[in-house]
Amino acid sequence: MSVWEERWHPLREEWVVVAAHRQNRPWIGETVARRREPLPGYVADCTFCPGNRRVSGKLNDAYTRTFVFDNDLPCVGEGAPEAAPTAADCFRSRPARGIARVVCYSPRHDTTLAELPRDDVAHLIEVWQQQYRDLGERPGIEHVLIFENKGEVVGVSNPHPHCQIYATNFVFKTIETEARLSARHLHETGRVLFQDLLEAERADGRRILFENATAIAFVPYFARYAYEVYVAPKATRPSVAALSATEVSDFAAALSHVLVKFDNLWRLPFPYVMPLHQAPTDGGDYRAFHFHVEFHPPLRQPDLLKYLAGPEVGGGNFLSDTSPEEKAAELRALPDVHYTRT
Ligand SMILES: [Zn+2]
Ligand SMILES: [Zn+2]
Repeated sequence: MSVWEERWHPLREEWVVVAAHRQNRPWIGETVARRREPLPGYVADCTFCPGNRRVSGKLNDAYTRTFVFDNDLPCVGEGAPEAAPTAADCFRSRPARGIARVVCYSPRHDTTLAELPRDDVAHLIEVWQQQYRDLGERPGIEHVLIFENKGEVVGVSNPHPHCQIYATNFVFKTIETEARLSARHLHETGRVLFQDLLEAERADGRRILFENATAIAFVPYFARYAYEVYVAPKATRPSVAALSATEVSDFAAALSHVLVKFDNLWRLPFPYVMPLHQAPTDGGDYRAFHFHVEFHPPLRQPDLLKYLAGPEVGGGNFLSDTSPEEKAAELRALPDVHYTRT
């Protein structure tokens, strides 16, 4: 199944060059012995473990499930200094205002989102709902970006399972683009763009990984990364906060399913960047915005990074060496039970 074509990414308004005809021999898997060294459940100098002291000197709660705290080294904060005056009209600056937080998924240092019980994943989604509401309602906060970076290859130094929240005085570019294109599509066609995508993916069927009553997971037709996956509610909800209790539970099932597949792929904790794409909180009309989680995995094979180079960094469009249909088929063929439990 060789694909050599350009595919249109309707949520980014750009072409993705799929050049899977020249990819290396597919990974066969025998030599994937690189197991993670077992971690202890508690680490005395981990700044995220319960009861420990953080860099600010504050003590973590003796928490038993999730734990949310303001980031001690925030990239945006209410205490950011006034911006320096600029020398030219084309140079603009302003204070880096906002709120940066950390959400620990579990008191256990040695677990991951993929290994959390379904109920705990659902609980985490409820925490995301509270955070989106709490932060999004504040004056000056235009967007709440919730994301997890997982794995050393995406720069994570502390493996304690956690995600981050950047509540900012601007809307991140990808969200701004998705919101603009979704609004335009609704205006032009009367339909929600993401619903058109879901309909097309379900009609094709080859890239669907999971489906229950209210949630769905799939490798998008226009995937830019190998093993890129979207997880979404079937009904259009502008943010995670708009999910009903049933939708939260179904969404947790879809997330867990995908995460287990990822880890089972190479029988190691699968690294990724996982943003929640949610409507801005700047008071705009986001009826057409369809909340979803995106997984951007940096690895094509266990030891092979997808380098962002000339086309991506230099030109701004992605060149993908893998076929989305093939990658979806690989994930679909894997067991549903996490490898550590078999
Ligand atoms: Zn820890
Ligand atoms: Zn998105």
